[in-house]
Amino acid sequence: MTGSPWKELALGQRPPGRWALRARFVVVDLPQGRRLLENGEVVIDHDRVLWVGHDFDGDLAARYDMGEALIGPGFVDLDALSDLDTTVLAMDNQPGWKKGRVWPSAYAARAYEMYSPEELAFQKRYAFAQLLLNGITSALPIASLFYRAWGETVAEFEAAASAAEDLGLRVWLGPAYRSGGVVLDDAGVMQPVFDEPRGFAELAAAVDFARRIHRSAGGLVSGMLAPDRVETCTEALLRRTCAQADEMDLPVRLHMAQGDMERQIVQHLHGTTAPVWLDQLGLLSSRLIAPHATVATDEDLVRYAENGVTVAHCPLVSARHGSVLKSFSRLKAMGVRLGMGTDTAPPDMVLNMAVGLMANRIAEGRGDAASAAEFYDAATIGGADALNRTDLGRLSPGSKADLAVFDMGDRMIAPRIDPIQTLVYGATGRVTRATIVDGRLSMRDGEVANLDLKAARTQAQAQFEGLIARYPERTFGHPAVETIFPPSYPLHPSNSEILP
Ligand SMILES: [Zn+2]
Repeated sequence: MTGSPWKELALGQRPPGRWALRARFVVVDLPQGRRLLENGEVVIDHDRVLWVGHDFDGDLAARYDMGEALIGPGFVDLDALSDLDTTVLAMDNQPGWKKGRVWPSAYAARAYEMYSPEELAFQKRYAFAQLLLNGITSALPIASLFYRAWGETVAEFEAAASAAEDLGLRVWLGPAYRSGGVVLDDAGVMQPVFDEPRGFAELAAAVDFARRIHRSAGGLVSGMLAPDRVETCTEALLRRTCAQADEMDLPVRLHMAQGDMERQIVQHLHGTTAPVWLDQLGLLSSRLIAPHATVATDEDLVRYAENGVTVAHCPLVSARHGSVLKSFSRLKAMGVRLGMGTDTAPPDMVLNMAVGLMANRIAEGRGDAASAAEFYDAATIGGADALNRTDLGRLSPGSKADLAVFDMGDRMIAPRIDPIQTLVYGATGRVTRATIVDGRLSMRDGEVANLDLKAARTQAQAQFEGLIARYPERTFGHPAVETIFPPSYPLHPSNSEILP
């Protein structure tokens, strides 16, 4: 059978019958380990990979030849950007507490939802499309709470479940909840504040939501419990969270060992570090996913390893903040489980792997630390294992048909060397040509199903600018927007001439 025209394949749908995808390179997972096939093909039947090899001689409804490309398992993003990223505003504008990233106590008392319900729903849909553009097939969404009244709402997660189903993205959903926060007192000093009943109410709503959506949309949508940063959670909230997760067999994601402010607050409240505190409470387990571990002590890491905790490694966002995991290679050697998360814009897992590789070699002080393949494994197998899903993050007969196809003939990335090294050192997800989830074509050449990305980009920009305009009211001292986020160079007045 000769190749069928790839462009005719309908976005958002499964091709009818059993079909094959060919390419110059295919990653295949065998019982003896991960291998590369040259001039291989993947046969897909409904939602599963049926066969991987050189030339399938069974019946096929269609065969698509991707040519000079790499077919591999889609990425599993454990801290997947799911809003219009506001952390990018803070990269060149420091310190964060003066830039609207810590609420003044007067604002905290009247904090409100800075986005409408429609805007909250839209930004998740838009972010999900961006994940698909980057070859991400499984995502655990994360978003900022700074522009929220408190935690995330069930309503926006109902909308997120619909968006995931419409676009064809595999997701683990759970609104973030918390029983506390950190506010600035009138002198500009950070103080933790707690509202335990509010945290319990939000947890109850999150559990109810998870019960309703777990394993829905044909298995595309699953539940998770997502208590916000550890310093905003009380012991009782975390105990209830872990008990519910055990009962319902859900993953739990909790940010900890990620920053100095957290370290100081947890030390003040509990007399130790967050991972040690949780271990003392008996709450560290293999269902726990813990971004970012950049300030983890040796003792913290030993406890992670002993309890099977997975670190969601997000090197791009960490590096932008001047912090680094110490180190990817060292955690692996200690037996700490590692997956990857994007957690910033662009949610580019390929760039994320590239920064991770470079940051690790700088942290290790040697050029042979952790290969491109080790980061590729963390972004696929590592993430799937954190979710206890051996049918994801791998490409083998019986695995879910969750695939990403990358251009190996890109004009900007030449010469091509080994395909995995070419991808990681090329350092851009823009070479992603197709993303297939559950056997459906969810993204092809920059287009997704059920969303006009050009119009959505315009809408996203307008929505984001509306949010920026409201930064002064929740920023300490209420400076003007131009003072909070000054331009990189002074703006030249529009009414004055440029002199030679
Ligand atoms: Zn994060």
